[in-house]
Amino acid sequence: MSRCLTSRSIDHVVLERGTVANTWKTERWDSLRLLTPNWQSRLPDYRYDGNDPDGFMTMPEVIAFIESYAQHVAAPVETETTVTAVQRTDDGFVVRTDQGEWTAPTVVLASGHCNIAHIPAVADAVPAGITTITPSQYRTPAQLEEGGVMVVGAAATGIQLADEIQRSGRPVTLAVSGHVRSPRVYRGMDIQWWMDVTGLNNERYDEVDDVTRVRKLPSFQLAGSPDRRTIDLNSLTDIDVQLVGKFAGINDGKAQFSGSLRNQCAMADLKLGRLLDTIDEWAATNALDREVEAPQRYEPTRVDDDPPLGIDLRGGAINTIIWATGFRPDYSWLDIDVVDRKGYVRHDGGVVTEAPGMYLMGMPFLRRRKSTLIDGAADDATDLSDHLASYLARGSDTPSVLR
Ligand SMILES: Cc1cc2nc3c(=O)[nH]c(=O)nc-3n(C[C@H](O)[C@H](O)[C@H](O)COP(=O)(O)OP(=O)(O)OC[C@H]3O[C@@H](n4cnc5c(N)ncnc54)[C@H](O)[C@@H]3O)c2cc1C
Repeated sequence: MSRCLTSRSIDHVVLERGTVANTWKTERWDSLRLLTPNWQSRLPDYRYDGNDPDGFMTMPEVIAFIESYAQHVAAPVETETTVTAVQRTDDGFVVRTDQGEWTAPTVVLASGHCNIAHIPAVADAVPAGITTITPSQYRTPAQLEEGGVMVVGAAATGIQLADEIQRSGRPVTLAVSGHVRSPRVYRGMDIQWWMDVTGLNNERYDEVDDVTRVRKLPSFQLAGSPDRRTIDLNSLTDIDVQLVGKFAGINDGKAQFSGSLRNQCAMADLKLGRLLDTIDEWAATNALDREVEAPQRYEPTRVDDDPPLGIDLRGGAINTIIWATGFRPDYSWLDIDVVDRKGYVRHDGGVVTEAPGMYLMGMPFLRRRKSTLIDGAADDATDLSDHLASYLARGSDTPSVLR
């Protein structure tokens, strides 16, 4: 957004509570690599240009990439500046920080969509003696006690942690609810390549049937590793991770799992089949069939005949629980009534219509499916900076809806 504002000669400042690339420096585990391939790290006027376009960046590489981008575009970043309040004034906004106050006719909220790890209410009943942590607190298996670990949630974070922790010798139980299954490589090409060329990543928020539903979908079960292997529930079963259903409650110290595991897996298999059908149709229509490998279908997710419906948490089988149950943004500093019951800012494609002059970036399906990816920022920032420029020129005459 800063690059787009600069190219429109709009005077601005970027306020950052830490330093550039703060979340990648402070909130990620040690072994994490991007799950998007290097070629997909594209920002306005900048892209990965190394010699491994199909590889996946480690965290130090991501940090270096974003730091060098900030330098490249000479972003006017005020680091170590925490925003403590944003309030409406007669002609714009006042932004209070621990380093003083700013006033501005427009404000862009780009504080991230993963500020707070979601912890389900059931956590309150976890018996004493079991350590509970969130993915933001997790760094490496070595920080965990020896013994059993329950990972709750099977989106990208949950499956990556389950794989790594099981391989460290700590037996993992993975509680699985709704999830999105995906191979890493399909017909010889990365799944993100297919999502890109078919236009699926570009699908717009005003083109999908139910934007509220798609904004809540979990992330694809994907991991970036040098060997480009697929991590899914079958690969986890192969290394003896125990799959159980959704963590539904705790009764008398006993964790209870929903009986829906088989259905959840069948649903994910079905949706994967539909995605691959869409890709195959696109490849055939676009005369790519002979340039890529033949279509493939995958073994259905294997589920035990009788997956356990409960585990006694006082029996010593589980020493640690990791809540890989998603994240949410933190707007505790936003003193304007635009936040819904779930903690998300109400907006129309990033235009906060209830607070003219306010914009939002980086939220799930903000304007496109790719809006929460690094690769999604460029198009969203271009659209929204256009709207912002016309708002500055025309004030409240600017149509609030951006199409
Ligand atoms: C575990 C994990 C893995 C991911 N992997 C990928 C991937 O492989 N590929 C990909 O494209 N995307 C990935 N993402 C999504 C990734 O978060 C986004 O692509 C990208 O970081 C979004 O950038 P952002 O600037 O919107 O948000 P953030 O990176 O969250 O940046 C927000 C910034 O705002 C600052 N901030 C917040 N509150 C305040 C405040 N009150 N005052 C001042 N500053 C504040 C924060 O310190 C932070 O630096 C991943 C996310 C997670 C959680």
